[in-house]
Amino acid sequence: MSTLQEKMYSELEQKEIFKQALDNGLAYLETIFNRNVYPSEEALLNLTQFDEELSVDSTNPKDVIDQLHQYGSPATTATLGGRYFGFVASSVTPIGIAAKNLATFWDQAPAMHVLSPIGCKLESVVEKWLVDLFNLPKDTCAGFVSGTSTANLCGLAAARYHILKKNNWDINEKGLRNAPEIRIITGKHAHSTVVKAISILGLGKENIEWVDVDDQGRINTELVPELDQNTILILQAGNVNSGAFDNFEQLCKKAKKAGTWVHIDGAFGLWAAATEKLNYLTQRMELADSWAVDAHKTLNTPYDSGIILCANRAALVSALHMSGSYIIHSEQRDGMLYTPEMSRRARVIELWATLKYLGKKGIDELVYTLHQRARLFTDKISVVDGFYVENDVVFNQVIVRCETDTLTESTLKRIQELRDCWLGGSAWFGRKVMRVSFCSWATTEEDVDIAIRSFQKALAIELAVTD
Ligand SMILES: *Cc1c(COP(=O)(O)O)cnc(C)c1O
Repeated sequence: MSTLQEKMYSELEQKEIFKQALDNGLAYLETIFNRNVYPSEEALLNLTQFDEELSVDSTNPKDVIDQLHQYGSPATTATLGGRYFGFVASSVTPIGIAAKNLATFWDQAPAMHVLSPIGCKLESVVEKWLVDLFNLPKDTCAGFVSGTSTANLCGLAAARYHILKKNNWDINEKGLRNAPEIRIITGKHAHSTVVKAISILGLGKENIEWVDVDDQGRINTELVPELDQNTILILQAGNVNSGAFDNFEQLCKKAKKAGTWVHIDGAFGLWAAATEKLNYLTQRMELADSWAVDAHKTLNTPYDSGIILCANRAALVSALHMSGSYIIHSEQRDGMLYTPEMSRRARVIELWATLKYLGKKGIDELVYTLHQRARLFTDKISVVDGFYVENDVVFNQVIVRCETDTLTESTLKRIQELRDCWLGGSAWFGRKVMRVSFCSWATTEEDVDIAIRSFQKALAIELAVTD
């Protein structure tokens, strides 16, 4: 054995570093719910501890984990807790952490069934569960990717393949040069990752036919141009600012009639479909052709976990698989047929564990509670002088502003500095706004109160400064 091998075998045998890492993780858990939500100034300064040349000699493994815990743990954002309202970042379920810990030892890559029987088995099980939960067409297939950015890319790649194939044009063989034209229609509030996917796919941002939206950011159905068979219509379940949903009932029906491919970006909003009191928001979305959704947002699984769901299995597989034809490698499911990557981590393990742990009722309760917290926050902030809620809070996103753009910006900065909670800014119909996203299972009514007090305190300080 080489010296390094001996060292590593002995680390495996002694298990000390695993215990150390677990102890550190558990210590982290103890403090994270009461800690400042954003890292302290000191913690941020201490990040310079990582500015070092790669050492020539091997480092003691205990020191490696120590450094991570001592300087890394304090420099995390407390997304695990209940008062991180930034972006659409969720917490993580305890079962998700636990399953991920076990899976860490497995280190599986579900590219092919022979490479990871358990990984591929869970992917085929979860595929069925998701199709059932979201009430999608029976043959809908799922690809387990890093997030909705990639899921959007995959859905649109399937659409591109399918439309060109109908025109006797094999994109995989011929590429885009001289290819028949594909039209793309989407709303002016489409997520930036949708636009990015369009550019990566060579479809061209300039070619997008943008549709005006209403005051909630929903596509104005009356303004949608004539649809046809060579068109991709991109809709959204959950506007990233307002949480609003496009009118799938009208738009999907219309598209279906015209033979138009509909892709739905449902990164966080698609979960409304699995929630009894909120599924009115996603009525008839099952008429679409592809859906992108994250598990690491609304469902609170560990990062990273996104899913592309596609009703046209052949189109998705042909678009993502090198050979361009619909080949089944084994009797069982080979995960790589449904994703752009060959090797990737078996993120489905934590997704499976979270779904199994929650059950349909638990999923419903988790998602509906996010909505209830958003409603509670809205009710409370609306009666505080100086704050205005700018959207209809139909899901989990709340848009708040102050009297002027300047005051909104400085108050937001102050809230961030207070560190009792954390949220980011955005623009909403030309105005600066604060965006409060309720996406953590851990958010309690008390967390909402703490956030409200922080908003009040921040505004009071800013008003005193300007006086
Ligand atoms: C978050 C989000 C995305 C991007 O998803 P990632 O998981 O971050 O890649 C796309 N669309 C919407 C509406 C989102 O909220």
